[in-house]
Amino acid sequence: MPAVFDIALNARFRGVVRRRGMVWAGSAGWGEFSPFEDYRPDECVAWWRAAEEAAELGFPPAARRTVPVNAIVPAVGPGRAAAIVAASGGCGTVKVKVAEPGQTAAEEIDRVAAVRDALGAAGQIRIDANGAWDVETAVGRIARLDKAAGGLEYAEQPCALVGELAAVRRRVNVLIAADESIRRAADPLEVKRLAAADLVVLKVQPLGGVRACLALAAELDLPAVVSSAVETSVGLAMGVALAAALPRLDFACGLGTGQLLAGDLVADRLVARDAALPVRSVSPDPALLAEHAAGPVVDRRWRRLLSQVKRLADAEP
Ligand SMILES: [Mg+2]
Repeated sequence: MPAVFDIALNARFRGVVRRRGMVWAGSAGWGEFSPFEDYRPDECVAWWRAAEEAAELGFPPAARRTVPVNAIVPAVGPGRAAAIVAASGGCGTVKVKVAEPGQTAAEEIDRVAAVRDALGAAGQIRIDANGAWDVETAVGRIARLDKAAGGLEYAEQPCALVGELAAVRRRVNVLIAADESIRRAADPLEVKRLAAADLVVLKVQPLGGVRACLALAAELDLPAVVSSAVETSVGLAMGVALAAALPRLDFACGLGTGQLLAGDLVADRLVARDAALPVRSVSPDPALLAEHAAGPVVDRRWRRLLSQVKRLADAEP
């Protein structure tokens, strides 16, 4: 029987302060179904397939025992940015959020420069604009941020459209990563056709499961970074399984997000030690499932969503 969870976030994320979803066990293990609550049921089908795969099929063989992860610096001031890097437990790679509405270019530059100071010369800094810039802004900002960082590892989703990514990629000397252009696109292969990115970000739930992601990575034939959708350890284990199974893993992954949640369903949480996550299975603790069980209104809403999504999944070819 699926359990509905409702866990506070330590900081606002996508405008919300709680993370909700469902977990259930099948013959192979546990799966998490936690689409964002503003998604339509048809957008949630892939998330359900991913959870069902984890529960009923389990994961493909792992090619590695640990997965390197990056630290995340949100759109905070330079002092806070430096403190996050210092507290990151030796993460050699830091992702810095940029293109925050209401912030200036100077604020971004100060943040990236503070991260470089705190990280040291050997660390890697990547930026994520979540598709917020137009081509001209992206070209200008990436050049300035690359300079402030003393070299960027890559720039993630500088613009919204695949054609824009391709245009930016031709004009900057920084690698371009596609994230939203893969996971929310009708045709993720457009990124390859237009030579719009040097690497791609893969997220297990929105892309329909570990095997679907492996097939997509093979078809795209580009290096991949695995990221979470800010999940409990049950969902993070699905991301870790993908990162473990990829034939090549050249970049640290965005799976060190466990601490963004104020609680978890698993007693031995998947949190990074020495900037890496172990590749292992997880199962929820009954006491934690009870502690984080959703109230009756939220519980009913999720069970209704699950039956709607299952019907849609059954109707798909
Ligand atoms: Mg991103």
